[in-house]
Amino acid sequence: MTDLVASALPAAPPAESQRGLECRKCGCRDLRVVYTRSGRGGHIVRRRECRHCGHRIVTWEKVIG
Ligand SMILES: [Zn+2]
Repeated sequence: MTDLVASALPAAPPAESQRGLECRKCGCRDLRVVYTRSGRGGHIVRRRECRHCGHRIVTWEKVIG
C-alpha cells in the first residue's frame, strides 16, 4: 500500500480529494482522471480532463511511504 499526497498539500488526504485543483480554462472543478502513471523520483503523474470544456491538465503527486 502506498499513500498518495499532492505535493502542494503535504498533509492532505489522497488525491481524489485534492482541493484547489480547477480547470484553468473554465474554472470548474469537475475534473476526471484520464490516466495515472509513475513518474521519476517516486512521483505519480495524473492526467485530468475537465468534464465541461475538455481542457486537460497534468498533476504530479509525491508518493509517501
Ligand atoms: Zn474546463
